[in-house]
Amino acid sequence: MKLGKYSLGIGDRFSHQGVAQLRGIVKANQAGLDISPVWNKSNREHMYVHSHPADVRKEADAAVAALGFSGKYFVDADHINMGTVAPFVETADFFTLDVASFIGKESPEAEVKSFVASCTKYVGKLQIPRISHPIEVSEELIEQIAHKFLAATQQASEIYNFLKEKKGVGNFITEVSMDEVESPQTPVDLFFILKMLADKGVPAQTIAPKFTGRFNKGVDYTGNVEQFAKEFEEDVLVLDFAVKEFGLPEELKLSVHSGSDKFTIYPIMAGVIKKYDKGIHVKTAGTTWLEEVIGLAVAGGEALEAAKSIYTIALGRKDELCAPYADVIDIDDSKLPTPAEVAGWSSEKYANTLRHIPGHPDYNANFRQLIHVGYKVAAEMGNTYTDLLKKHAEVVGQCVEENIYDRHLKRLFNL
Ligand SMILES: [Zn+2]
Repeated sequence: MKLGKYSLGIGDRFSHQGVAQLRGIVKANQAGLDISPVWNKSNREHMYVHSHPADVRKEADAAVAALGFSGKYFVDADHINMGTVAPFVETADFFTLDVASFIGKESPEAEVKSFVASCTKYVGKLQIPRISHPIEVSEELIEQIAHKFLAATQQASEIYNFLKEKKGVGNFITEVSMDEVESPQTPVDLFFILKMLADKGVPAQTIAPKFTGRFNKGVDYTGNVEQFAKEFEEDVLVLDFAVKEFGLPEELKLSVHSGSDKFTIYPIMAGVIKKYDKGIHVKTAGTTWLEEVIGLAVAGGEALEAAKSIYTIALGRKDELCAPYADVIDIDDSKLPTPAEVAGWSSEKYANTLRHIPGHPDYNANFRQLIHVGYKVAAEMGNTYTDLLKKHAEVVGQCVEENIYDRHLKRLFNL
């Protein structure tokens, strides 16, 4: 099973927008971009909204049938580990092996030594084709990298072998993720991580490193854009070299766990993959949920009132809702509107405050991030929320489709 060159991860918290999301993909296909949808959902999301991995498969299959979509599509068990993978085995065909928590865990000294010994040919000036400067590699550096990443790659091989046993070789896509950590992996880290994965027989088709900068949920990139651009380009070239050098799957590509909406760096990524004719996987994740809230606000009446009360409740429970996302949100409390202010808002004012249009005078990234983590509030509203989604399916679906196509795919692929 092969992923294809371009793919987009589309999360859908409440599993009502599969068709609208797929319409966004189809639009891109019609514009000449061969891109596959990947419906991804993590264990954490399933727990909050009380859904089951099988629901995602149902949603994906139903959307594909409804639109008569004939392209490839996948269902991603997002950020699973050995403890959470089991319920996903049957219905997912894409597995994101999250081994971030094993970074820095000690490995047996003999394994570290043998890895270092297997890398002697890279000691000195390592020249990766098309990277302008050679990378200085010492034995100490390789040893440090081994101490830091051998246990994580070992964990990846254990989860992979478990899946191989259950599903059979070649029947699923393997992604390895290390993005949910504080310090970024450098291109040279990535090079040796890929060697470890190849040594351990993990046929990764995508790898999600932690890139430099902040990838806050649902809002734009913050960080050193120049540094990101340099490292992203080097990462792409490292992957290209690693495929040939270590015999990894030739379709291996970067997976950017973007947290959605990294509009500033989308053109940079687009430029690099175009320059080297490389593929990419981008996870946009949970912003479909924000489009639901925008759609409800636009619908007006009781739907607008529901959108307002989601904000008011989320504001009252801000600490609790933000805690699991502390590393991936930055909310300036002083810029959050009061419930009384929001109560007086029109449909247009609410939608413009939440919708991510850079430079729009009403757009408020703080408001947007709070709503983003507030999906638990909507989940607790149960049928009241999902009935509104059904009632206003058309306007909500338009928002979802427009978000995927106009704000993400157009920017990412220059459509
Ligand atoms: Zn991630």
